[in-house]
Amino acid sequence: MQAQRIYLSSPHMGGNELKYIHEAFDHNWIVPLGPNVDGFERELCQVTGAGYAAALSSGTAAIHLALIMLGVGPGDEVICPTFTFSATVNPIVYQGAVPVFVDSGYSTWNICVNETRRAIEDRIRMGRKPKALMVVHLYGQSAKMQELMELAVQFDLPVIEDAAEALGATYQGQALGTFGKLGILSFNGNKIITTSGGGALLINDQTLIEKARFLATQARDNAPHYQHSQIGYNYRMSNIVAGIGRGQLEVLTERVNRRREIFEYYQKSLAHLPAISFSPELPGTAGNRWLTCIVIDEAKSGGITRETIRLALGEQNIESRPLWKPMHLQPVFAQYPYYGSRNVAEDLFNRGLCLPSGSNLPQSDLERITGIVREVFEKGQA
Ligand SMILES: *Cc1c(COP(=O)(O)O)cnc(C)c1O
Repeated sequence: MQAQRIYLSSPHMGGNELKYIHEAFDHNWIVPLGPNVDGFERELCQVTGAGYAAALSSGTAAIHLALIMLGVGPGDEVICPTFTFSATVNPIVYQGAVPVFVDSGYSTWNICVNETRRAIEDRIRMGRKPKALMVVHLYGQSAKMQELMELAVQFDLPVIEDAAEALGATYQGQALGTFGKLGILSFNGNKIITTSGGGALLINDQTLIEKARFLATQARDNAPHYQHSQIGYNYRMSNIVAGIGRGQLEVLTERVNRRREIFEYYQKSLAHLPAISFSPELPGTAGNRWLTCIVIDEAKSGGITRETIRLALGEQNIESRPLWKPMHLQPVFAQYPYYGSRNVAEDLFNRGLCLPSGSNLPQSDLERITGIVREVFEKGQA
């Protein structure tokens, strides 16, 4: 008999989600907007320290709105890490704009500060000053925010911070997603907390948040009839979905602590294998360890690759996944510029693997997983 499947990251309800949903049913708030949406936005601000939050239908919608609010349009360029999920990039293309991909650095796996500077200077030299800088905190690990924000100030570039994977993580005590002019969160099914699907924009500026809410609800002008002078979007979160979010936010700290514990367990129980290293954490930052990521050093692994491990886990019905495939290597984005002299993202993709990291994984599952990884190496060395 095949053992029950172990997923990379599966939803983990806290208990109060249904209470908020019942309240919505009791008052017939089965619509977009309503008390759960207001409550969820307020609580997101409390948790992150953001000035304002807009609850939206997805993280992708949040990125799209952020670009629209910065005026990114056809032909404009946006600096963006190559090492990310496609949802960071797709909305740039929705706007007819051009993503300019930049490689990662090994100390954070996120956008490399030097390559970013090189890209910005080169685009300016070509008379194509970028319209915005997109920063992503991959796997809940902080990018080098101080250096990146300094670059942004120097070149007068607004920053969009894609913290879709980084809710609950901090840089020098400040929540990720609150450094940029606009920050993005996702509550998709596999994220650290989930609403089944959803996202949010974090903003400090009151005019901008009003603009975001206006655009996200079909851009209705202030009139008794339906009056429109701009293109709008249907991007708001529903009151039911926001109820799940409120229940999930109550347990965010526990979820982050458990993910960090899982990371530490993997690190400790695989420490004797010199071919395995783990994702970094910059001093002064606290990641949420959304997914535990390992990288295989093939000079020390005796022929074992990340694929050997992935397939061995797969045979036991355990899901694992290579790290994100860089965007400049994706057929759909191949025509866009790329700045990277070391190809760090490509190297991480080739050698890296995400291990099951859900906060609801029992200890016995973790032991099974590390047992299989150890066995792969014992067999390999025999
Ligand atoms: C999940 C994710 C998104 C998109 O969020 P959705 O809510 O799924 O639309 C954007 N960027 C990154 C880095 C993500 O991991």
